[in-house]
Amino acid sequence: MSIKKYQAKRKFNKTTEPRGKISQKNLSRFVIQEHHARNLHYDFRLEMPASKDSKEIVLKSWAVPKGVPEKKGIKRLAVQVEDHPIDYINFSGTIPEGEYGAGRVKIWDKGKYKIITGTLKDGSIKFSLHGKKVTGEYVLVRLKKSPHFKDGVGINNWLIFKT
Ligand code: MN
Repeated sequence: MSIKKYQAKRKFNKTTEPRGKISQKNLSRFVIQEHHARNLHYDFRLEMPASKDSKEIVLKSWAVPKGVPEKKGIKRLAVQVEDHPIDYINFSGTIPEGEYGAGRVKIWDKGKYKIITGTLKDGSIKFSLHGKKVTGEYVLVRLKKSPHFKDGVGINNWLIFKT
């Protein structure tokens, strides 16, 4: 049960009872990193288990060339890339010249997210983002024509949009 009912009955500027927090359970973190590599893109990452029933938590990652849309009605290509380690969620800095992904990385937005329906395995998830720039409900859907995607590796094209 939610504590909303408890909160609705009380004036927290009058009582010293604890306000309490709406449960953060099922909320995980996301980050969007602006990456000035050879081609500017935005890396969208969701904190979640590596696979169903896995205890390993990773950052599921997509390179979004034009960025995660802030408004409805815009669909953006999101190319799934390899899972990144969880510590990468706070990474900003400059990847040295000559190294993989060379260029400046800065955090464009971060916050919490919650899955509403779907799974990545099924190729479709609806989720809510609670960031500073991106908020509201979003969908990530895998394009059927991702011909090079097999057994979890390869080119894996998705679309991301706000609903
Ligand atoms: Mn990148």
